[in-house]
Amino acid sequence: MALRVYQLWKGRNIFLLKGRLVFGPDAKSILITLLLIIVPVFIFVTFIGRKFVDKVNAGYAISPLIIVFTIFVLFLLFMTSASDPGFVPRNSSPPDEVLVSDISVFNDTGERNTQGTKLPRIKQVFVNRLPVKVKYCETCMLFRSPRCSHCSVCDNCVEKFDHHCPFVGQCIGRRNYRCFFLFISASAILCISVFSLSAFYMKLVVDDYASIWEAVKNSPAPLIVMVYCFLLLWFVGGLTGFHLYLMSTNQTTYEFFRCRANTRINVYDQGCMENLSEVFCRKIVPSKINFREYVQEASRNCRISIQQREAHFMNEDKREKVEDDREIGNDLWKISQRRDSKEIDDARISRGSDGFPRSSGGFSRSPSEFCFGGFGMEA
Ligand SMILES: [Zn+2]
Ligand SMILES: [Zn+2]
Repeated sequence: MALRVYQLWKGRNIFLLKGRLVFGPDAKSILITLLLIIVPVFIFVTFIGRKFVDKVNAGYAISPLIIVFTIFVLFLLFMTSASDPGFVPRNSSPPDEVLVSDISVFNDTGERNTQGTKLPRIKQVFVNRLPVKVKYCETCMLFRSPRCSHCSVCDNCVEKFDHHCPFVGQCIGRRNYRCFFLFISASAILCISVFSLSAFYMKLVVDDYASIWEAVKNSPAPLIVMVYCFLLLWFVGGLTGFHLYLMSTNQTTYEFFRCRANTRINVYDQGCMENLSEVFCRKIVPSKINFREYVQEASRNCRISIQQREAHFMNEDKREKVEDDREIGNDLWKISQRRDSKEIDDARISRGSDGFPRSSGGFSRSPSEFCFGGFGMEA
């Protein structure tokens, strides 16, 4: 029986409606967020909103307006949580350039260099004519694009990774960032509205009683809702302000906390207005993955064999992979030796005590050559 992409998906996502909706692994936390929104609105509508009908003109419209706006907030929450944030499809095998770079971790006797096994694979690309280094993702077997990062919660590489939000149970990335910002800013507006209306109602109640204490004792709902909204506003209002700053300077949350310690130039900053229009005016790019697509039998077998191989690697603490790499490495090393034995002999003579050849004979390269160049911003 043919299987769909979402059924063979290696990330930790949860799929509903046969792959139409994609959630993060912690999607259950959305229920808490729903309660945090619905419960205070329910208290407001039940105990405060309906009493406006008698007390002010057009008071009958207040509760329906709050309910409609709450539905809008919940819709934004759903759109943020249930969509692909910008997942990057995994490769089934490492790219050729990675296999070639592996040769550098073998010394002349064919032994694997223990320093080399931990060598980070980094490539340099240019963004706005400024150099940016991008890293290789061992899990997804690909060189990440700039601003792409691997989310440890979802176990996927995500384009323009911002953060993994536990309140929406989903990664925030290139495709759902706008929706996420609208959700938090709409939540802040809802909070302010409910707080203001509750405070106004509180004033009307106090006018009917001799003291504030007596008013609160007879009608505690406005005070409870006001305290709740006040506390929540610190969170959603603060978050909205923080993301406004990030958008205006074209940073992600991940970059802000990772790069604020150093003085690297933000290569993505194109001025406040241009940065804001990038978030709000540009069309959302289509998803790179069609989760409902059927997987071909051949590629499915390939995927299954890769999954089995990966599970075996995990159990064997990746020892087998090292052996495979060593075999490939040794073969490549022998080929490189056959290519020009004289050149290699010369290289051996000039080889230093660190075990890395000094010459550039074919595949050899010292770690410092591609790890620590001058870069604008780390991706
Ligand atoms: Zn990855
Ligand atoms: Zn995530």
